[in-house]
Amino acid sequence: MTDKVTLSKEEWKKKLSLEQFRILREKGTERAFTGEYWNHFETGKYKCSGCGEVLFTSKDKFTSDCGWPSFSAPADDIIEEKQDLSYGMIRTEVLCKKCGGHLGHVFNDGPRDKGGLRYCINSLSLKFEKKSDL
Ligand code: FE
Repeated sequence: MTDKVTLSKEEWKKKLSLEQFRILREKGTERAFTGEYWNHFETGKYKCSGCGEVLFTSKDKFTSDCGWPSFSAPADDIIEEKQDLSYGMIRTEVLCKKCGGHLGHVFNDGPRDKGGLRYCINSLSLKFEKKSDL
């Protein structure tokens, strides 16, 4: 990872769409089954829509019935985890290490043969880049 990206709230507002800002910078969640990538299985890389760092690849994406793009592992050491006690639940929030953008949460109900984790990510936090091979 190269240097961290730190922008002011106003700078992020200019850079992101309103919906991206609500999710990445204000920890919002897109409605299930509405995002661009929950049912998207092309070969390629998923970059952070805030800073462009590669976060996940299609190799670790799996079909999940939750309505959000789901991955069994990040592409690299690029994900920060934080305990999230909001809404009366105990969850683990995942953020982009480079820009601090909120991505989603990680759960323990992922595919057993791939390590058992499910990174449940908002499509709006991601930008897909098609690659013929990874
Ligand atoms: Fe980022």
